[in-house]
Amino acid sequence: MEHISDRVNSLAASATLAMSQKSAELKAQGIDVINLSVGEPDFPTPAHIKDAAKKAIDDNFTFYTAVAGYPSLRKAISTKLETENGVKFAPEQIVVGNGAKQALCNVILAAINPGDEVIIPTPAWVSYVEMVKLAEGKVVTVNAPIEQDFKITPTQLEAAITPATRMVLLCSPSNPTGSVYSPTELQGLVDVIAKHPQIIVMADEIYEHINFGEELRSLASFPEIADRTVIINGVSKAYAMTGWRIGYCAAPLWLAKAVNKLQGQYSSNPSSIAQKAAEAAYTGSQDCIEEMRRAFERRRNLVVSLAREIPGLKVNEPKGAFYLFPEVSAFIGRKCGDTEIKSSGDLALYLLDKAHVATVDGDAFCAPGYIRLSYATSDDNIREAMRRIKEALANLK
Ligand code: PMP
Ligand code: GLU
Repeated sequence: MEHISDRVNSLAASATLAMSQKSAELKAQGIDVINLSVGEPDFPTPAHIKDAAKKAIDDNFTFYTAVAGYPSLRKAISTKLETENGVKFAPEQIVVGNGAKQALCNVILAAINPGDEVIIPTPAWVSYVEMVKLAEGKVVTVNAPIEQDFKITPTQLEAAITPATRMVLLCSPSNPTGSVYSPTELQGLVDVIAKHPQIIVMADEIYEHINFGEELRSLASFPEIADRTVIINGVSKAYAMTGWRIGYCAAPLWLAKAVNKLQGQYSSNPSSIAQKAAEAAYTGSQDCIEEMRRAFERRRNLVVSLAREIPGLKVNEPKGAFYLFPEVSAFIGRKCGDTEIKSSGDLALYLLDKAHVATVDGDAFCAPGYIRLSYATSDDNIREAMRRIKEALANLK
């Protein structure tokens, strides 16, 4: 008899990964799909990082490592945090896992008890809500629509806090909206959190280097909350290393120890070879970051200007990451032949079916009425995808 746990039954499947899979299946059938669904840099990993991995194999870095990662890697991360972000985390406070995804889930599982409330500003990346559900925590969403550039205000945050609030999760630059909180906006949120000492802040800073102008400040650099802020980061986005699966949390020591214990029973260390590659990423030349950042900024300008030419799409100007999150409610209720668009999910399927462009339904990010486009693809793909989207949307009457 099939028997699946309630825990897993209650989880939603990852919509970003599902849409990307669907697009790969259509491509395998010979259909020319442009995939704007999954968010990952389209650049190959820089050569000096790949060389470090090859050398790691030849030098026999092939054994289990410390659960939290090689001391040399944790030292390199500690140095990065101090020099780039101005924050102090000793190597013992850093636990390296299989991507920022595992790092996030580790911290949630280590810090959240059943019934603890976790505040998640929405639109929010697909996995946050599901991870809190895994820990049997209670998700409290705080919605920030496009009219407020997808950023919550201190008043909204204050109103969401209760005595049961244990964590606030903040992602800036944001997936899926590309919004970036300015230092002044962060200060406003910090002032609220400072009044509630039971709250841990989890700052997902994985897109820190894909940032087009706004001055960035790490949440852990605010002295009022520094001793209860966890930074989540990794090499996937900054160094085009999504497949290597290296990310980390930098946390208060008591929490880092708990995460270490959890990971030790659960997955042990992440790949020793990938760790050596990540170490080369952090200690080698940083020029690759700026080259990729410039390409993303050019593409951001392109996708925004093309989207603004499409009647009915409402777009903001994303200040970071590589996503555009247009509001599409103007198309809901419209039809093309027998196909009626009843939701943003229907619209994403319609665009896949008719325009052969894969996007993700905003519902997956707790934001129905929007769709997400990842523009981490070539300029030519962006132009062709936007041409197809414009044509398909014009056919909805
Ligand atoms: N946080 C955010 C906001 C993301 O977009 C991603 C990308 N999937 C991750 C965390 C996880 O990244 P990874 O596991 O590849 O390091
Ligand atoms: N961060 C990417 C995205 O949101 C990767 C896919 C995932 O892990 O969800 O599309």
